[in-house]
Amino acid sequence: MMRRIFSRPRIVVSKCIEFAHCRYNGDMITSHIVEGLKEYVDFIPVCPEVEIGLGIPRPTLRIVRIGDYDHLIQPETERDVSEEMAMFARQFMASLPEVDGFILKNKSPTSGLRDAKVYPSAGKSAPIGHGPGFFGRMVLDRYPLLPVEDEGRLRNVRIRDHFLTRIFTLADFREAKTRGRIQDLVRFHTGNKYLLHAHSQRLQNEMGVIVANHEGIPDGVVFERYGTLLGRALARAPSYRTNIDVLLHAMGHFRDWIGPGERDFFMRSLERYREGRASVCAPKNIIALWIERFDEENLRDQTFFAPFPEDLIELAPAETDRGRDFWKEED
Ligand code: SF4
Repeated sequence: MMRRIFSRPRIVVSKCIEFAHCRYNGDMITSHIVEGLKEYVDFIPVCPEVEIGLGIPRPTLRIVRIGDYDHLIQPETERDVSEEMAMFARQFMASLPEVDGFILKNKSPTSGLRDAKVYPSAGKSAPIGHGPGFFGRMVLDRYPLLPVEDEGRLRNVRIRDHFLTRIFTLADFREAKTRGRIQDLVRFHTGNKYLLHAHSQRLQNEMGVIVANHEGIPDGVVFERYGTLLGRALARAPSYRTNIDVLLHAMGHFRDWIGPGERDFFMRSLERYREGRASVCAPKNIIALWIERFDEENLRDQTFFAPFPEDLIELAPAETDRGRDFWKEED
């Protein structure tokens, strides 16, 4: 396939992940995912706790539920920094350029997205539940259509692939929107035809109607409406069924050129994927090979076959032999 040129996503990241020693104890978190993305992404690192002046090192914070409300409290100093944190989060988000996603630190009472501990008091007590951190919750409220993930969940291969697909697609769209020309939107929609079909065929059709713009709506409004549907479509992960639909459709392009053996080989690989015994990469790669071999113009630019830079593709630990030398042990 022609090597796709990727737009650079703009991603807000918790500063303690690979950017600064700003954790409460002066530590930094290592993340090979964030490290690997540095080459392809423009990161905007932020540490809300340092930004509100808590210093490094600092006594830890915890979320304390008082009545119906959660507070962000520093038990050691008895400071309640809820208001300061909310004010900082509002100002910070208002100051941001248009961004394509967030990677935040999991479990943090400030930056966590779903798994920060909630306590019944600032004193010695066991947690009574879990929820988003103060800053994390405001990000989720403010950006419901953006990919917002925590560093822990991104270790899951499928969650990571979905996140990467979203940020690189959104970055492409943002660039088309900045240029503001409808022909760029048409090109974007056409190149993402298969990808959008895999995420949501219904929304893909609605987006097609917006691009066609039979009502003569101003270009700026067309981009806005399209962007909203794009965010909603990408938020849905592709299912087995929709991926298979797309792959079968793509195979149809080669029906007259491939022999029965090749066709059967492809169908068997699709069947293994359907049964959960192989990843989608196997049938996808067969199509990618055919695109190359038959120089199939109509599929060459489909982002479905290369949704993010190939350097970022990783296998689940169970699927790779790297670093394990089983055979050596038998010597
Ligand atoms: S989790 Fe958030 S607040 Fe805590 S150190 Fe990291 S960036 Fe700062």
